[in-house]
Amino acid sequence: MNRFAGEMSEHRQELVALDTAIGDGDHGTNMNRGMTKALEKLDAAPQADPGTVLKTVAMALVSSVGGAAGPLYGTLFLQMGNALAGQPEVDLPAWTAAWRKGLEGVQARGKAVPQDKTMVDALIPAVEALEAASDLDGGLRAAAQAAEEGMKSTTPLVARKGRASYLGERSAGHQDPGATSTYYLFKSAAEALAG
Ligand code: ADP
Ligand code: MG
Repeated sequence: MNRFAGEMSEHRQELVALDTAIGDGDHGTNMNRGMTKALEKLDAAPQADPGTVLKTVAMALVSSVGGAAGPLYGTLFLQMGNALAGQPEVDLPAWTAAWRKGLEGVQARGKAVPQDKTMVDALIPAVEALEAASDLDGGLRAAAQAAEEGMKSTTPLVARKGRASYLGERSAGHQDPGATSTYYLFKSAAEALAG
């Protein structure tokens, strides 16, 4: 979460630029504000287990981020936190199951399917890479790579969900901002584990 907050701060302008092309230009600001709030909340309760950390971040995002991404990332982290409740340590099967639950939550909430040009296009291949992995370190590295490919795959797509869908065919030729922040999430996870 520290690393993800750092990525959202570092790449705020990139995410704003992507969202300016096919949305309303607030994705970088939204994510940076939400993750800054989340770190404040975590600093106030430092001893938490992984499930509690995820739920704390979820609450902070839902309460501080308007628009689509706040509730969607909030749902992702809340479902992951519920899946990990009461577990002091997280191994590959637990972590993979949590990501799967998070993905299901995002899809239940936003109704996006593959190739709708959303964060789901980065999430699905990343979760599938984790499910195919045999160790956590390699799994997260494969997931980050799969998320990056998923992110890039959104560029030619015509958006069918969210604000970008209002543009119709004109949304093609631009990388989706939410898929980009999701790539940074998996990159953060892989780097955090690697130290
Ligand atoms: P808003 O679109 O309300 O301004 P953001 O700009 O913060 O919110 O987030 C936009 C991103 O949210 C998109 O790039 C897309 O990845 C994601 N998104 C939008 N709608 C959906 C949806 N229904 N399901 C999944 N992701 C979505
Ligand atoms: Mg936006």
